[in-house]
Amino acid sequence: MLRSSFTQKDKDFLLLKNGPCCNFCSKAFFKDDKEFDLSSFKLFFYKIRNKSTTVLKPEIACIKCYQDIGLFVNCFVIEGLVDDTFLLSYYVYTFAVNPNHDLRLRHSLLPYALNRTQFDDTFFKFLFSCEVKSKELYLQYINTKT
Ligand SMILES: [Zn+2]
Repeated sequence: MLRSSFTQKDKDFLLLKNGPCCNFCSKAFFKDDKEFDLSSFKLFFYKIRNKSTTVLKPEIACIKCYQDIGLFVNCFVIEGLVDDTFLLSYYVYTFAVNPNHDLRLRHSLLPYALNRTQFDDTFFKFLFSCEVKSKELYLQYINTKT
């Protein structure tokens, strides 16, 4: 689910497309005023299942956010039928430090709920349906936030 190998061409394209900052915390990717620090960002891929096909969509994240997204998503890795788009949307609305506008648009809560309270309810219904191990991992993840 998480991959970080991509070509220089991919990096350049995504930096041009997204701007030189982390989509999740808005940290800029500059070493100093001029130079891009390409080592400080990662691509995060999430799956969109569309009938029989699976599409991998990338998001740009700094290393800190990339690792945090990984911790969150991997809580549910043993669950058979996880909607990765749903998980990432929940992450954007709940745990992302300072998500940019485009990221919020791409991960609207509207496919899942009409408002934030309903979105939380939807997530907790999903969580209660998970294996005990996933719930334990999620509790450990939450504890890293306090
Ligand atoms: Zn970040």
